Amino acid sequence: MVDTYKHKGMRQKLVNGIRNKGIKDERVLSAINKIPRHLFLDSSFLQFAYEDKPFPIGSGQTISQPYTVAFQSELLDIKKGIKVLEIGTGSGYQACVLEEMGAKVFSIERQKKLFTKTKAFLKKLGYQSKVFYGDGNKGLATFAPFDRILITAAAPEIADALIEQLKPGGIMVVPYGDGKVQSMIKITKKESGEIVKEDYGHFSFVPLLKDKAND
Ligand code: SAH
Repeated sequence: MVDTYKHKGMRQKLVNGIRNKGIKDERVLSAINKIPRHLFLDSSFLQFAYEDKPFPIGSGQTISQPYTVAFQSELLDIKKGIKVLEIGTGSGYQACVLEEMGAKVFSIERQKKLFTKTKAFLKKLGYQSKVFYGDGNKGLATFAPFDRILITAAAPEIADALIEQLKPGGIMVVPYGDGKVQSMIKITKKESGEIVKEDYGHFSFVPLLKDKAND
């Protein structure tokens, strides 16, 4: 669990690269600068950990590309102390970015193996984000409503349960679509309950699947 000056230097370069690609929210950039991403990869190949690319994390899943993590985090407009529900815990990296930004994070993972591994790993790193095993399409009724909801897998449809669990005034960010490429949609639930959708361009995610995996 070492984080050397070399890692820190590579991270700073990664952050500069993401900033050059258009990310402006300094809270996002500073969170990425703090988190030792190399510890979230199965094999700690330095050259991959701090490249702006997705990387396999086992169980057929990937840790999202840092730019994508930054883009979704910026769209969420995180404020200190707000409650965020993340669907698709994966490696836990995105959850940590949101936590570093001051959010209280609740994250759901459908793959039992990943869930078990990531839950233990986040605890070891000292993060407080709460990880749950289940189908994210159902949300987390017990802890609802949420100020923000983030889906980190390609969603062919947006479950009504998630819209219901979003607070009035809240924001949900979802890569929407069932093809290879999805549209990043920001959904705002106005105080009146009215739903407004904005399209922020194309991204590519692994699919959001229904129900829990049988593993
Ligand atoms: N946010 C992650 C990357 C997520 S990859 C990170 O920072 O590393 C997408 C994840 O969504 C995978 O781990 C996959 O198992 C999970 N997933 C897919 N369908 C799901 C569902 N219905 N509910 C919860 N998680 C789901």
